[in-house]
Amino acid sequence: MAENGRAHYSGVLSCLLLIILLQTCWTFEEELKWDENGYILYCPCMGRFGNQADHFLGSLAFAKMLNRTLAVPPWIVYRHHAPPYTNVHVPYSEFFRVEALSAYHRVVSLEDFMEKLAPKHWPAGQRKAYCFETAAQRSADKKSCPMKDGNPFGPFWDYVGVNFDKSVLFGGISFGAYHQLQWMKKFPPSEHPVLALPGAPAQFPVVEDHLGLQRYVLWSDNMVKEGEEHISNLLLRPYVGIHLRIGIDWQNACKMLQSGDTGPHFMASPQCVGYNAQTALPLTMTMCLPDLAEIRRALKLWVKKTSARSVYIATDSESHSKEIEKLFKGKVKVVSLQPDSAQMDLYVLGRADHFIGNCVSSFSAFVKRERDVGGLSSSFFGMDNPGRKKRTDEL
Ligand code: GDP
Ligand code: MN
Repeated sequence: MAENGRAHYSGVLSCLLLIILLQTCWTFEEELKWDENGYILYCPCMGRFGNQADHFLGSLAFAKMLNRTLAVPPWIVYRHHAPPYTNVHVPYSEFFRVEALSAYHRVVSLEDFMEKLAPKHWPAGQRKAYCFETAAQRSADKKSCPMKDGNPFGPFWDYVGVNFDKSVLFGGISFGAYHQLQWMKKFPPSEHPVLALPGAPAQFPVVEDHLGLQRYVLWSDNMVKEGEEHISNLLLRPYVGIHLRIGIDWQNACKMLQSGDTGPHFMASPQCVGYNAQTALPLTMTMCLPDLAEIRRALKLWVKKTSARSVYIATDSESHSKEIEKLFKGKVKVVSLQPDSAQMDLYVLGRADHFIGNCVSSFSAFVKRERDVGGLSSSFFGMDNPGRKKRTDEL
């Protein structure tokens, strides 16, 4: 009898324990607590991946400055040249680990926000859009934020499943630290829990203070696995990775340099000419659009310096792999994967023993930042020693 009772008792106990355990798991998995400090939502509606990544770092800093949770948007990938011939919205987590951002600030994926928080806390019918007065000027009644006007705006908020019911306009305020208090006073979270913006609350290119936030942008397990497989199957270490940004759109963009009215900074160029416009180094045509002679020169230099056994070429168009193979007389393995996803090129470039990037490209800038936080060496076409004074005893 007593024996039986004890067995029964311990059975109930383990059952209880199991329930408690399951409950805790369930709570961690499913339940998202509403943040009374409010949220920032935005569309990464300007430019392709490099621009979106620059904007992401600034937005992360902005959310922290306002002490609001950042709803991390998906990446907008423009697949107009290949199936499905439309914009694709790729959850942040497909390329990077959302959890890793939490070491810096509170975040939630926009998808989770919509699925788990919006139905109760930001229901349809009460969704306000926030934008600059100047942006609202473009609307028919001059008082509405143009949240869903045109591409990629409409498809983005359709993907998120949001229509906006009302607009709140602002002006005379920037996203920089200088206006922190104005933002907080103007939009207390009690009255304005969700600040939904038509674009990123950030500058392009990313400001110098936010470069280091790249350390929280960590590749997802799947990207690491696939990337490492490519590296070990195709490349021999040490390897030099290069980014060739030389396609027709880029040739046209760099032509603007020749006309001379671009000013001291041009797109992502602060990364190599310096962030201070007063002391910026000159930006040359070779830095913007390296010709084959410069590609050969830089590669020869860095392959020698690093005793590289292979070269990885990421390109927006041509790879010049035949010419590069010839340059090294077949002694260096030359690889160009031309992957379906541009992020795989970024991964492999990020892991190279040396990286040669394009000064003006934000795609290159992503790799450069990642390598800088990891202490890996990088240079640019047309600039062998970025961020350092040229010393005569070098080279
Ligand atoms: P930026 O225009 O160079 O500042 O960089 P963006 O990322 O804004 O736009 C360039 C886009 O072209 C990238 O997002 C890619 O989709 C594509 N692209 C440019 N260079 C490469 C490359 O080396 N490899 C691959 N796969 N795609 C590239
Ligand atoms: Mn671009």
